[in-house]
Amino acid sequence: MRNLLTDLIKDLRLCLFLLLIAAIVGVLIGALWPCLVVALVIFITWQFYNLYRVYYWIRFYPQRNPPEINGALGDILFLLYRYQRQEKQAKAELINTIYRAQSSVSALQEAVVLINHQQHLEWWNPAAEELLGLQSNDRGRPVLNIIRHPDFTDYLENPQHYPHGIKLASWVKAQHFIQCEMTQFGGNQDGVAGYSQHEYLLIVYDVTPLHRLEQMRKDFVANVSHELRTPLTVLSGYVEMLSDQDDFNPRWQRGFAQMQQQTQRMTAIIDDLLLLSRLENEELGNKDQRIDVASLLQQLFTDAQAYNLDYGHTLTLDINSPFNVRGSAHEIASAFSNLMTNAIKYTPKGGKIHIGWQQQGEQAYFYVQDNGIGIEAQHIPRLTERFYRIDSARSRDTGGTGLGLAIVKHVLAQHGAQLEISSIVNQGSTFKVIFNQAQLIE
Ligand code: ADP
Repeated sequence: MRNLLTDLIKDLRLCLFLLLIAAIVGVLIGALWPCLVVALVIFITWQFYNLYRVYYWIRFYPQRNPPEINGALGDILFLLYRYQRQEKQAKAELINTIYRAQSSVSALQEAVVLINHQQHLEWWNPAAEELLGLQSNDRGRPVLNIIRHPDFTDYLENPQHYPHGIKLASWVKAQHFIQCEMTQFGGNQDGVAGYSQHEYLLIVYDVTPLHRLEQMRKDFVANVSHELRTPLTVLSGYVEMLSDQDDFNPRWQRGFAQMQQQTQRMTAIIDDLLLLSRLENEELGNKDQRIDVASLLQQLFTDAQAYNLDYGHTLTLDINSPFNVRGSAHEIASAFSNLMTNAIKYTPKGGKIHIGWQQQGEQAYFYVQDNGIGIEAQHIPRLTERFYRIDSARSRDTGGTGLGLAIVKHVLAQHGAQLEISSIVNQGSTFKVIFNQAQLIE
């Protein structure tokens, strides 16, 4: 390793040596000062010449080896050369990493699209060309000009409303479906006003097989329910007719009563399954109806009081919000009524049930609070699954189908509302349906 200080001393020694020779020659020829000046000029010229070599190397041939120079200047040159080599190596490694990242992303079957903070397309892999129909001249174009779908526009503006991304019908291949999932990254504080300063990574993949399977499942459930309905109606009709006969044998009374009860239960399950199918296929009524929440709740409250006769609970209704809801009145009524009847069913006789419509900032929520049996925490996330029941026997005894909360979940999803459940075992439960500003009207 070269040392700058020793090289400086060497340079100084060389200079002194030159001056000494010049002084001796000067004394001998009787011209001391001119000889000293000549020696100094030679030394300085030599230094300038070396400086020029360094400049020449940096300016024209930085990729070649540096010139051989002794002394302090050579030392500085050596350091420069070393940094230059390190930087070259780091750059090569970086390029290699970028190349490898790009080629692995290019090999993906999923489309990967980079969208800049102005929501313009910046980069994509070959799969994006196939799945989204992107072409090379689309670079720099607004993504919303390429993906012209109202759901995608909403997704881009409010990604927080779509935690699982969105599914869209493909515009490139007929009968195909794609799933879009977007991640925001980056973020610049001093950005241009009006633009979100985040960049986006959009990942898109083909979900057609999954969609077909899902459709098959939906069709299967809808068809089976539909097919079972007619024979069931015939059966229950005959059961009722036979048990109404004058010469009906009393020995059969219990059996027939049970048959009647079970056919009614099956009819209720089939009706719920058909309603779920309709909700899943978005065959709702008009979703743009103005629902007068206060009068809807009054009406449901009267129904609940009638249902409550066997249970003897104290029911209260508290309306504390002037907001109304935009949606399908029939479906919202069935969701609210499901929550009310559940509270009545799952509270031991003589309980207290509070029903209300409350305002909270820009949101409003419907709630049903009971002091019933409560729900253990581990069951809460699964309550809205079809046929999920904590106690099947109890649910059956109360005429439950295990589909009520699944229906509630679907109705609310169609209205962009959320269900919040909190409960303490043996103390009671609260079911809240929260509506955002977008679903509320004055
Ligand atoms: P079900 O027809 O069985 O009532 P739901 O889907 O309406 O079906 O409810 C699913 C399960 O959630 C019920 O079986 C019950 O165990 C539980 N549940 C619902 N509401 C309440 C409540 N208010 N208190 C306690 N448990 C409840």
